[in-house]
Amino acid sequence: MIRLIYVSRSDNVTFEMNRDILTSSFQFNQENKISGALLYGFGFFVQCLEGDEESVRALYEKIAKDTRHYDVTLVCETPISERHFPDWNMSLMNLASYKVVTDKEDFDPYAMDGKQLLALIDQISLIV
Ligand code: FAD
Repeated sequence: MIRLIYVSRSDNVTFEMNRDILTSSFQFNQENKISGALLYGFGFFVQCLEGDEESVRALYEKIAKDTRHYDVTLVCETPISERHFPDWNMSLMNLASYKVVTDKEDFDPYAMDGKQLLALIDQISLIV
């Protein structure tokens, strides 16, 4: 199995957009045994995908072509023996709601490595 984390930008994230993403994610990820978390806020997406190497890579290729976001940048791809988010088909979390990022002017997930991004997701998931 692998864990893949990427970051991207989106200028106008709407409720409908997130609902559509979650709807497709729910069925596809369940069928393909992909778990993970999707953070959004301050004009960014941060997504962690975990599962079988082939399935995760194929999904990432598809997501990277999605025109609802841009500057999709792979941060890390790590071999794993256990899932970090075994119970999350795909959890969607709004960064702005949890006040974990206090200085939003300085918040730049493109400047963070995989460990830092996973720690950020963890921090928020403890609050959720
Ligand atoms: P189709 O619905 O036929 O899509 C055809 C093309 O249009 C694809 O390139 C698709 O990306 C794009 N597209 C689809 N709907 C829209 C729309 N409303 N506006 C603009 N373009 C659109 N999918 C998952 O299954 N699991 C995930 O974990 C997941 N995470 C995502 C995270 C983010 C940040 C984003 C933006 C999308 C995510 N998606 C996820 C959705 C994924 O990108 C595809 O849209 C979805 O898998 C369906 O693609 P498709 O080619 O099978 O089908």
